[in-house]
Amino acid sequence: MLQAGLFRRTCELLKGTALCVGLLVGAGVSLAPAHAAPRAIPATTDDVRRLPIPPVDRSQEPIMVLTGGTLIDGRGGEAIEDAVIVIQGDRILAAGPARSTPLPAGSAKTIDATGLYILPGLIDLHIHFTQQRGEDFGRYSDSAAGAAIRGVALAEQLISAGITAVRDVGTVDDVALRIKEAVDREIITGPRVLWSGSIISSTGGHGDEVTSTATGRQKPAFGGPTKGFNGPWEWRAAVRNEVRSLVDWIKLGAPANKEEIAAAIEEAHSLGVPVAIDSYGKYTDWAIEAGVDTLEHPLALSDDAVPLMKRHGTAFVPTIGAFDNLLTGGYPTAGIPTGGFYHTHSRRFVIDQQDHLDRVAEAYRSGVQIGVGTDIPFENEIRYPDAYFRELAYLSEAGMTNADVLASATRVGAEIMRMGDKLGTLEQGKIADILIVGKNPLDSLGNLRDVRYVIADGKIVVDEPAR
Ligand SMILES: [Zn+2]
Repeated sequence: MLQAGLFRRTCELLKGTALCVGLLVGAGVSLAPAHAAPRAIPATTDDVRRLPIPPVDRSQEPIMVLTGGTLIDGRGGEAIEDAVIVIQGDRILAAGPARSTPLPAGSAKTIDATGLYILPGLIDLHIHFTQQRGEDFGRYSDSAAGAAIRGVALAEQLISAGITAVRDVGTVDDVALRIKEAVDREIITGPRVLWSGSIISSTGGHGDEVTSTATGRQKPAFGGPTKGFNGPWEWRAAVRNEVRSLVDWIKLGAPANKEEIAAAIEEAHSLGVPVAIDSYGKYTDWAIEAGVDTLEHPLALSDDAVPLMKRHGTAFVPTIGAFDNLLTGGYPTAGIPTGGFYHTHSRRFVIDQQDHLDRVAEAYRSGVQIGVGTDIPFENEIRYPDAYFRELAYLSEAGMTNADVLASATRVGAEIMRMGDKLGTLEQGKIADILIVGKNPLDSLGNLRDVRYVIADGKIVVDEPAR
């Protein structure tokens, strides 16, 4: 068994097609094309860093089969009734109609999914494992240990809802990395984690304010020593430090100087690491022009922003719910009042829900890639996993079809995450991250809440067939 490996593993063929030849042959599936023997590409870690690892032999791993369900494989075609999915270890060996997908001998486990709907696990591109929760936690900063405990609780909430992969875009110390490792090593149950270390900002910028963003309350000791960076070389050095800490992504925060933003993005890209930015207004335009990979939030976008995103191939993670929460009810148990940001220097603009929806609609019409992110800053214990499904509803409200919202939550999310060759669809060679629900999510996205099984990394995490 591969259990408890430090890293999830894969074998890859050229052109990003993930296949593991020995494993498939071992399972009695003939696949080698007659004209060319597949050339072995070294296996890599299943994260954005893609560290080469020794070859992986899955041929002795147990086989699991899903039968009878309707497969929505995430590739955009028609749903496949009476589908078969064959899993060995953490990989999908085969997925397709029962009539053309032979059942392997020696299956250790069969799930009868008759009447159920099988789809790729969901992806949340914007979470913070260490966010505050509860009346007490919401009122003061605590330690990395406290943040880690909260993170473990959130990991459990997410995976139980079928959210099988997340990107953490700002953590306390190395908490998100340790959660990622703990999930990989099966110490805790949670989604696959990509992480981006700490937010890189300028002195006094987002993440380095002396007052909290939503309440305006002073942070302990008037904010403590600055974590901000100043000037292009300090921003480059900050990126290098994050990469040294094994991050998958870099996260920047506005406001910042145009040269600082461009320097950080260039440095990250030269090191092969993609970049997300929490931004607004002109800073957003600067970041897009400098090649940032994902824009987080829909805050105070200029009329140039969406056309620029389209031109530069920037993905958009709107996180609408986090801001609508501020407008419509605040976060009462955390003492956050209704209305917006207060007394913060890094957030001097008005939040406008209709503008946010309009910008998502504009991005959708323009063909900008849109991903699903929640970014709930407080009350995680009561907001998750509901916040994820509410975010899908906001995307619908902005005019996206159910099929396109579902794609954002799966295939497109995986592509945005830089994991499109390993996650996001259910097909041969992909990692077995699978959600099985009771009713068709294409009829109503609310049906995603009707979770029957969750399979993460080839293992059953939720098993409630008769819910
Ligand atoms: Zn955030």
